[in-house]
Amino acid sequence: MRIKTGEYMDVTKAVATMQGGSLAEFLRENPDQGILLGIIIVLIFAVAFLAWCACVGKWQKRAAALEHERCIQLCELSNECFFQYDIKKDRICFSGYGAQKLGYEPRIDHASSLLEQAEWDKTPETGMIRYLTEVKEDSQELRARLLRGETRWYQITKKLVVDEKNRPVYVVGKITDIQQLMEEKERWADKARKDGLTGLYHPTASRDFIQNYLDGRGNKGAFLIIDIDHFKGVNDRLGHLAGDQVLMGITQILQQIFRKDDIIGRLGGDEFLVFLTGVRDRKIVEKKCRLLCKKVKEYTEREHNEKISVSIGAACVSSGMHYDRVYKAADNALYVVKERGRDGYEIVGL
Ligand code: GH3
Ligand code: MG
Repeated sequence: MRIKTGEYMDVTKAVATMQGGSLAEFLRENPDQGILLGIIIVLIFAVAFLAWCACVGKWQKRAAALEHERCIQLCELSNECFFQYDIKKDRICFSGYGAQKLGYEPRIDHASSLLEQAEWDKTPETGMIRYLTEVKEDSQELRARLLRGETRWYQITKKLVVDEKNRPVYVVGKITDIQQLMEEKERWADKARKDGLTGLYHPTASRDFIQNYLDGRGNKGAFLIIDIDHFKGVNDRLGHLAGDQVLMGITQILQQIFRKDDIIGRLGGDEFLVFLTGVRDRKIVEKKCRLLCKKVKEYTEREHNEKISVSIGAACVSSGMHYDRVYKAADNALYVVKERGRDGYEIVGL
């Protein structure tokens, strides 16, 4: 229908007429204006409706943004990320900020196809996906590598959501970042393994490390017991505090002479132990013993104005041996040196 300019005038007239007569009467007499009036009314409603929709949309967007921000803040506070695995759709969804922290997309489709390419050990980050898609309820501490290469500890707790026939539909759960907790735990465990004065390993920790080495790596090694000669006399002459300093000084010498891979511990009192990993050559052990005897004398003369000597009993050992046997052999060798008059070493082979 075409609308001429003049017709707007007619509409105004129509409204005026409506005030006098009935609307039905007017429409019957002016069908064209009636249609125009209808279109205008519909347009007004449409514009009003669109404006209302826009307002509601804007308000909903703001509410959603606020809700999102609230979730982000809560997730950040709790160090937690929530996830849901839709078993049928094979899809994992993470809570937004959590996904960002883990380095995953918020939604992973075809999650199990990721598993086919994945090997648990080589790619621990897909190891986590494998764990999330396992249809069972449990809780585990998992060390996972993030996509950006960083490795972190997580506690993952999973629950199943079942349908009316008791068939699992979703695996839901939370992933908690426990990296800091694990680091703290490790710090305390390490502290408990070490001697307060020297910072060297306690006898039980040393024993565990050495037995582990002998059981696992299939390498040879050498076990040394080092005892300070006439240390009681040192305490008596120089005082207990100076005696403590001698113990700390010898600790430093041990740390300088032996490699980082070697295990150094304090057996108690004035006795130390060293386990040289991977040493096959008896000559190397001999050289180390000689150097240690020399360095201790040099140090004590320099720092305490008297030459203090040490006696060393050493046992060259093979893999698979029991710690007690190794210890006994080195202790017997030490006894031989003490009997011989101290200030020296004895090496035996097992
Ligand atoms: P030997 O040549 O036969 O080894 O004689 P020794 O006097 O060294 O005798 P032994 O090794 O049996 O005694 C070790 C002494 O070390 C006993 C104790 O007085 C002293 N001692 C033990 N622990 C500490 C300590 O933490 N600090 C100090 N200053 N002395 C200690
Ligand atoms: Mg002694």
